[in-house]
Amino acid sequence: MMMRIAIAGGGLGGLTLARILHRHGIGAVVYEREASRSARSQGGSLDLHPESGQQALAAAGLAGRFRSEARPEGEEHRILDPAGRTLVHHKPQPGSFSGRPEVDRSALRDLLLDSLPGDAVAWQHRLVAATPRPDGGFGLMFDGGHSADCDVLIGADGARSVVRSLLTDARLSYVATLVELNISDADRRHPDLAELVGPGNLWCIGVNQILAAQRLGDGSIRVGISLRADDRHIDTYRSKRALLDIFDGWDPRLTALIEAGDSPPTPRRIEAMPTGTRWTHQPGITLIGDAAHLMPPVGEGANQAMLDAAELAAELAAELAAELATNPADPDSAIRTYEEAMFTRTHPIAEMSARVQAMMLSPTAADDIIRFFTPQPTEPAPAD
Ligand SMILES: Cc1cc2nc3c(=O)[nH]c(=O)nc-3n(C[C@H](O)[C@H](O)[C@H](O)COP(=O)(O)OP(=O)(O)OC[C@H]3O[C@@H](n4cnc5c(N)ncnc54)[C@H](O)[C@@H]3O)c2cc1C
Repeated sequence: MMMRIAIAGGGLGGLTLARILHRHGIGAVVYEREASRSARSQGGSLDLHPESGQQALAAAGLAGRFRSEARPEGEEHRILDPAGRTLVHHKPQPGSFSGRPEVDRSALRDLLLDSLPGDAVAWQHRLVAATPRPDGGFGLMFDGGHSADCDVLIGADGARSVVRSLLTDARLSYVATLVELNISDADRRHPDLAELVGPGNLWCIGVNQILAAQRLGDGSIRVGISLRADDRHIDTYRSKRALLDIFDGWDPRLTALIEAGDSPPTPRRIEAMPTGTRWTHQPGITLIGDAAHLMPPVGEGANQAMLDAAELAAELAAELAAELATNPADPDSAIRTYEEAMFTRTHPIAEMSARVQAMMLSPTAADDIIRFFTPQPTEPAPAD
């Protein structure tokens, strides 16, 4: 009998996993809480790294389609100080595809969704509880009263994972506040801002605060303001006036990014799991992506989620191929192997992400960043 695999969450991790399993002839159902693919804006763009996100897309057979969706020119980035002086301006080689090209999240998610059979995603299925069954596997309960059973449950349900609590009681900590705004049709409506941001990313670094902006493929600009964690109510950040006060004294060409926002700002708390979180393996269940290792957003989370998916899918496929010749499949050795490798790979990345996050929102962030981007003189050769 075929093993029934349930994936909770149809984000980048869950969909990559479903796609690679599908390529190996292994069916899985993705239970996604959203009502449809267009129910919610998917946010800004991501740069996919060759050794993680791009590798996962190659395993998914989607490298070619990725190349046609990605924007290598989006790698261009500028770092300014609050007076508008350029500290760093990085331009990729024209036409180069060797680095970390940007792709809009919505384009990437669509690419994955389009690669799956139409019934692979059960939309409007928010998992509320998973209960181990005495004979193995899990009973799943969804918001609204639906239920289902599975033999293997994979939690790809993001930062506030429901599945995580079956494996670890790790608590999230609040690491920063992020406030987002959108500027649509920027070239026509705000050509000066379009030029300031360029084809990629702009970061304006102040003391304990960053004003960033990012060009998306649809011609809009996404503005993101990062602030240190504090005990102010989140609603404090819902007005442009309050944000402009926080950036008082900054060059008006930069704060124009706040004024130009289409609608009121959207604030949210950024959280992280303790670095080094791991759990003791339990039969028939595991986690990928933010559910497994939520880290501060400094450019690794989606890449690692997709690589988790590729590595878990490869282990499961190898196990199932070996088992077909003999007994009913036992996925647990595949899950164990995946978990050990994932903990080893992601722990240093989570530590680095926490360090970079703290550096970006420190009083000396601008100096630290210049040092980071300035080539260090090579050590003189030791004298004979
Ligand atoms: C502002 C910001 C910028 C970032 N920039 C980058 C970047 O440049 N590069 C990078 O690599 N990473 C970046 N990240 C991190 C990245 O977004 C995440 O690490 C990545 O999306 C994790 O993928 P995931 O599939 O694990 O989770 P998600 O993408 O969060 O997907 C989880 C899915 O599960 C669904 N879901 C949640 N709960 C349930 C439930 N109970 N039942 C059913 N479905 C459920 C959700 O609707 C969602 O579709 C950034 C994060 C933020 C916040």
